[in-house]
Amino acid sequence: MGTTTIHFPIEKTTQSRLSQTNFDQLEFGAVNSDHMFVADYVNGEWTSMKIIPFQSISVSPACSALHYAQMVFEGMKAYRASNGDLLVFRPEKHLERINNSNRRMCMPELPSSFFFEAIDQLVHLDQDWIPRKEGCSLYLRPFIFATDPYIGVKPSATYKFIIFTCPVAGYYKGTVNVVVESKFVRAAEGGVGEAKTGGNYAASLLPAKLAADKGYHQILWTDSKEHEFFEESGTMNLMFVINDTLITPPLGGSILPGITRDCILTIARDWGVKVEERKIGIKEIVNAYQNGSLQDAFGTGTAATITHIAKIHHNGADYTLPASEDRVLSNKLNQYLLDIKHGVAEDKFGWVHRINL
Ligand SMILES: *Cc1c(COP(=O)(O)O)cnc(C)c1O
Repeated sequence: MGTTTIHFPIEKTTQSRLSQTNFDQLEFGAVNSDHMFVADYVNGEWTSMKIIPFQSISVSPACSALHYAQMVFEGMKAYRASNGDLLVFRPEKHLERINNSNRRMCMPELPSSFFFEAIDQLVHLDQDWIPRKEGCSLYLRPFIFATDPYIGVKPSATYKFIIFTCPVAGYYKGTVNVVVESKFVRAAEGGVGEAKTGGNYAASLLPAKLAADKGYHQILWTDSKEHEFFEESGTMNLMFVINDTLITPPLGGSILPGITRDCILTIARDWGVKVEERKIGIKEIVNAYQNGSLQDAFGTGTAATITHIAKIHHNGADYTLPASEDRVLSNKLNQYLLDIKHGVAEDKFGWVHRINL
């Protein structure tokens, strides 16, 4: 993929935890596989790339990421096809996005010269950590954080880049009940909502907890100016189907440009479904609900692909959507996208990277 590839040393673990891992009870993100990739940014360049056993790292208490959250992350998945091939879904799109996040957070870009090689080697090395069960995968967590031991507020001169991986189960196929948020905001235009950076998540914890205390799984985030137009659902992008038209809020600066979002829109357009990226707000949803044209609402993201919304709560009223089995379009999109990721359906959009070492 890159022009030149940087090769790096690989130190294998002598104490694999694989045999002690219960693959029948995988909690998302709770188990790490045996190895991780690390690289340091020093003197204006990336150096010291290597794969080592998964282990704790030490940083200065003054490490600037710990104080000012100068960091970015990604979340992507690797799969094992039924013929044994190792597949990584859209790694070049994740590199593009982590570099967009890097620019916003005033951080150095990652070159393709070792990003793809790091992923290939890491997944290849820990391939036995990819759960065998259908729908399961290896979740990859690349992230970069500022390491200057200095508590003045300025961009760090040094950074660490790490990729570790977690075996994850086929995501729980439940629906979510959501509440429209009309006090807090996830992100405002001009802020960092379109960067995949930790602070966005820290800011969402309290509103999410308050919503959970009232019995809701997730928040429907609204715009920061009027609390009228929808932005995202929890940590997923948000889509509606009204009158057979797939509608999603436009990427206006406060919304994270999801790769699953892009996939779903691309496939739907390819199928000839009418797709609209435009503002969509509470009034329109309530209206569509009342006249019977609201067919579907769902979130999209790498973790679950599609998560159906069962109920939307707003201003004391509950809007209950059709049973999730009956949502023909989103179920079809979900299955087709999973089939592409697992190498079952033809990769007609060129999204699947096959590891070939
Ligand atoms: C990562 C993320 C998404 C989903 O992006 P995918 O690329 O589809 O996984 C959506 N919203 C937020 C806030 C995110 O951080």
